[in-house]
Amino acid sequence: MIQKIKGTMDILPDETPLFRKIEAIVREEAERYGFGEIRTPTFENTDLFVRGVGDTTDVVQKEMYTFADRDEGRSISLRPEGTASVVRALIENGLHVAAMPQKFYYIINCFRHEAPQAGRSREFFQFGTETFGSESPTADATVIAVAASVLSRLGLRGVTLHLNSIGCKCCRPAYREALVGYYKSNEATLCDTCRDRLGRNPLRLLDCKNPECAALAPAAPRTVDHLCEGCRAHFDELCSMLDAMGISYTVDPSIVRGLDYYTRTVFEFIADGIGAQSTVCGGGRYDGLVESLGGPALPGIGFGMGITRLILAMRAAGTADVPAVTPRIYVAPLGKAATVTAMATCERLRRAGIYAECDLMERSLKAQMKYAGKLGAAYTLILGDTEVASGRAQLRDMQSGEQTEVDIATFTV
Ligand code: ATP
Ligand code: MG
Repeated sequence: MIQKIKGTMDILPDETPLFRKIEAIVREEAERYGFGEIRTPTFENTDLFVRGVGDTTDVVQKEMYTFADRDEGRSISLRPEGTASVVRALIENGLHVAAMPQKFYYIINCFRHEAPQAGRSREFFQFGTETFGSESPTADATVIAVAASVLSRLGLRGVTLHLNSIGCKCCRPAYREALVGYYKSNEATLCDTCRDRLGRNPLRLLDCKNPECAALAPAAPRTVDHLCEGCRAHFDELCSMLDAMGISYTVDPSIVRGLDYYTRTVFEFIADGIGAQSTVCGGGRYDGLVESLGGPALPGIGFGMGITRLILAMRAAGTADVPAVTPRIYVAPLGKAATVTAMATCERLRRAGIYAECDLMERSLKAQMKYAGKLGAAYTLILGDTEVASGRAQLRDMQSGEQTEVDIATFTV
């Protein structure tokens, strides 16, 4: 038998209601904050992600699904995230010259060749938002508020917001120097990847999950201690807005985010009790990204929220149960003539918006009643030759056991 690709998933009908509940809440919340839905292609030119995500990142170096297209040998990649595509669409559709801010949200599948485990798969689902045009901390606070309100609507009160500022191109060089100095003096204990990163992307060392590297992170120089005046004021204003908006957070200097394009605000929402993959949402400000993808110098901020991780967190919090959809009525025919009437009756009820089930298995009456019970039908209607001839039948309320005679052609439930 051919099996699904490792790290992908089938979402079966008993799980889709939970996905749909999450998607419905996401749409409601995003639209309440004025974000419009954007849909972009599943695959793009590889260069878009190389430039947009950053060629020193694990995502680009090790995780992208990249292949040669049939024509011209052009290199194409399945999207590993949503931001680069949205920035491309913004520029390509001329929205970068429209009235600002421009606010988008999306619910997408993403692809990364990673080691599959709980909360980490190779095709995964993400809710994301992107806001362009505003440098103001009001944009940061709005974006964080959308994420917080989605998490709260999903019943995830045990999720904490970890907030940090990683500065801008003014304060980064001095910080970088301090950081490289610190890690240089501990170079012997670093993992190979980090020793390599030290020259190219030292900020990433703070993110390393290797125990020896992770042990060095708490005492490392902190970006928040090296902010320039502008970044300091921006961060302080954001914090006071969040305070006033009733959104709690902890300032966490270890949050630096994995992607190259972040500036100033970075944040993660971290869930307790779902194992190692506990970051349900990660985001931040990317003031240089639009320009680096060929657009104007337009600031931006956004986040990505992993839907499967939300589900793990909801299961841990006991908020993952979605009531099953049950039939309003099960119509049980006996014999060929009654089956035709049963089919017609179900169809009439469905056209009136009612969920009606009919026997498709030509089962015995006893087996049909058992099946109707299993489906949780609120009512059953048994149709035999006598009922068809008289046009009248007994409608049974499955809860109370009460029976009422109804006119088959006109009754409703
Ligand atoms: P992680 O630290 O878990 O590797 P990341 O920093 O690579 O995450 P982002 O690129 O910021 O993640 O993506 C945003 C969110 O998407 C993450 O916070 C997480 O919830 C989810 N996510 C990322 N990668 C995966 C994956 N392979 N499987 C499932 N969810 C994922
Ligand atoms: Mg990752």
